[in-house]
Amino acid sequence: MTELERIRHSAAHVLATAILRIWPEAQFAAGPPVENGFYYDVDLPHRISPDDFARIEEEMKKETKANHVFERVEISRTDALEMARRGELAALSARPTASRFKLDILENIPEGETITLYRNGDFTDLCAGPHVMRTGNIGAFRLTHVASAYYKGDERNPQLQRIYGTAFKNKTALEEYFTMLEEAKKRDHRKIGAEMGLYAIDSEYVGPGMPLWLPKGAVLVEELENLAKETEFAAGYVRVRTPHLAKEKMYLTSGHLPYYAESMFPAMQMDEHREERARLENRARVLKEKLSSLPTGPV
Ligand SMILES: [Zn+2]
Repeated sequence: MTELERIRHSAAHVLATAILRIWPEAQFAAGPPVENGFYYDVDLPHRISPDDFARIEEEMKKETKANHVFERVEISRTDALEMARRGELAALSARPTASRFKLDILENIPEGETITLYRNGDFTDLCAGPHVMRTGNIGAFRLTHVASAYYKGDERNPQLQRIYGTAFKNKTALEEYFTMLEEAKKRDHRKIGAEMGLYAIDSEYVGPGMPLWLPKGAVLVEELENLAKETEFAAGYVRVRTPHLAKEKMYLTSGHLPYYAESMFPAMQMDEHREERARLENRARVLKEKLSSLPTGPV
């Protein structure tokens, strides 16, 4: 884990601490660092919105100001399970309900593996680490958005609120990052392309990331295609043609589906088939359960 990732993941612990100060009943699942920051998945009756961010950040500031040590504690499986049942994991203290996601995570840790807890102030979490030394090492942070996510990415699991934020070594680096985002927004090809009359995008009827080329844009596309053909021809390449669409398997092999499904290329599903597919999947599941409950061995 890089230093920045350690800062960001540590900020996720501080985020959970802050949320629990406001909503002690919050149940946390996973909180890893991600490309531009971090998130923590939380199950909570209150729907967190950006309106809550200032209040949560205020609590987070108290934790970083207090400069608590991130203390690593090795613990036996039995003790960890006990703590989870008492609601003490990803929590500030014991609670009336078990830390159910942490309990599930614990139960899936292979036998013989070292189990560690991390403490910062009143907050204890089940975590393999690593973290920064102290909460004060999280120089600057900001919450950015909320999305929803299924536990372990499986739609049969409960839907959680995924709270995103970012953190940096210091305030200057944080501000530079948000300035860069603003500048990138001004240069967004989707914005510029539409302003120049090159293409239109209709996310609802056609799909996101699928430009409809207008006359000016079509000229550009043709010129680029010509240039590509000439360059390829000069370099001795010959052209082939392939279909525009292919089966899921190909996009899994190419790596597009696992990495770009959210932002660009979700698998295509025909609306009229979606219900039918869900019904068949459900039936398959019921049959499987029935089969597994049948007695085995000679009859
Ligand atoms: Zn951690």
